[in-house]
Amino acid sequence: MSILGNNGAAVAPEQLAAALARMKQAHLAEGPASLELRRDRLDRAIALLLDNREAIVAAVSADFGNRSREQTLLSDIAGSVASLKHCREHLSEWMRPELHPAPFPGCEARVDYQPLGVVGVISPWNFPIVLAFGPLASILAAGNRAMLKPSELTPRTSALIAELIARHFDETELTTVLGSAEVGAQFSAQPFDHLIFTGGTAVAKHIMRAAADNLVPVTLELGGKSPVIVSRSADLATAVQRVLTVKTFNAGQICLAPDYVLLPEESLADFVAEAVRFVGAMYPTLRSNPDYTSIINPRNFDRLQGYLADAHDKGARLVEINPAEEDLSDREIRKIAPTLVLDASAEMQVLREEIFGPLLPIKTYRDFSAAIDYVNSQPRPLAAYYFGEDAGERQQVLERTTSGAVVVNDTMTHVLFEELPFGGVGHSGMGAYHGIYGFRTFSHAKAVVVQSPIGESNLAMRAPYGEMIHGLLEHLLTAC
Ligand code: NAD
Repeated sequence: MSILGNNGAAVAPEQLAAALARMKQAHLAEGPASLELRRDRLDRAIALLLDNREAIVAAVSADFGNRSREQTLLSDIAGSVASLKHCREHLSEWMRPELHPAPFPGCEARVDYQPLGVVGVISPWNFPIVLAFGPLASILAAGNRAMLKPSELTPRTSALIAELIARHFDETELTTVLGSAEVGAQFSAQPFDHLIFTGGTAVAKHIMRAAADNLVPVTLELGGKSPVIVSRSADLATAVQRVLTVKTFNAGQICLAPDYVLLPEESLADFVAEAVRFVGAMYPTLRSNPDYTSIINPRNFDRLQGYLADAHDKGARLVEINPAEEDLSDREIRKIAPTLVLDASAEMQVLREEIFGPLLPIKTYRDFSAAIDYVNSQPRPLAAYYFGEDAGERQQVLERTTSGAVVVNDTMTHVLFEELPFGGVGHSGMGAYHGIYGFRTFSHAKAVVVQSPIGESNLAMRAPYGEMIHGLLEHLLTAC
């Protein structure tokens, strides 16, 4: 049996515990995975995705209501394959022990990167493939086994992933647990060797509490409100286009989506005009346009409509970009027009909650330092985006704000660089993966020392203490 539970019913906690125990046992019995086995696991994951890409595209789209085929192929399939290939390519170099100079003659000192064992992966719905297979690339590269709990909000995709995994992997290598948040809670209470959670900040607190009981180390990949600071020195049209391309991709249901914009007050009218023109050209229609993704479910549709109503009631001006003036009230279709929220203020939900949809509040500033101060008054975001050519301002963004990443003159680009760590800080998460950072997150860096035949460090501690230790102490206790 390689799939536990289904998308509706709960899994008995004993079933989860027994499956994990079998995986741990296999890890101990079979020893660390060789380079060849790790490459084979990565290859199987690549084949699983490439051979079944059309079935995956169809399942994701059915789960969303409509999810652009190209967006699924680009972000979920190509994004996963890029991570898996990068790991396969660099694995042998990452696995090599790291040699260090030893302070005592004849000693050998090194770091061995040892697999942790069995890693739990809890993934969200918004990019249901890449947020499962991205972490799995690092986990399998590091020689671990894994148990995946995908989201219940994409039931067809989660069931398909589970079935494909069961076909390509032994149940002790990689297995899937299907089910609701309740199953997620049971899952996060298991004694994994590591747990990685991608999801919301509120749920992350439950995850950390549950993991604490077994002292399971956690990596938390969370969300938040990623700001865009547009400088007076920016090319405004470029900024608008790069911000709104990402804000409308997947209908803004992206952890790294630009959440709000801080704009010089005199640029507002030009920003709005260019946004209306640019978005209208990308999406001349919305309701039946296959390129424009639906909101995942009625709850999130209502949540976003609620943010708009709240902003409107509290005095915001809403600029809805609905070029064909279509009726978008249908909760079955769940399309929400890209909407700029002008005159956004602190008491509005659009500035208090993570948006996770195609709404873009704009706050204006007079002095650049006010923009920096505003970012610093908020919880630390997953990313910060600066548009402009002013080197001093850019340095202020880099040095005076703290975020998971900074991208200058673009948004979300950093996720494409496998060489860079992907993760948050503070309320946007802890730990990172991608490339070598992922390999190290899911490895135990074991210090290894091989003592020399002389054993000088040992001799120094040996009583009776005489001239040798006194000479050594004199040397060790001198300032320079
Ligand atoms: P979510 O936190 O509601 O759910 C994520 C997963 O956790 C699901 O599999 C769910 O079943 C499970 N879960 C829910 N409650 C649980 C509990 N009490 N215990 C254990 N597991 C539980 O998140 P979501 O709505 O699926 O995704 C949206 C959030 O994820 C946003 O905040 C977004 O910013 C964040 N996100 C972050 C990243 C990133 O890489 N940093 C990527 C995508 C999404």
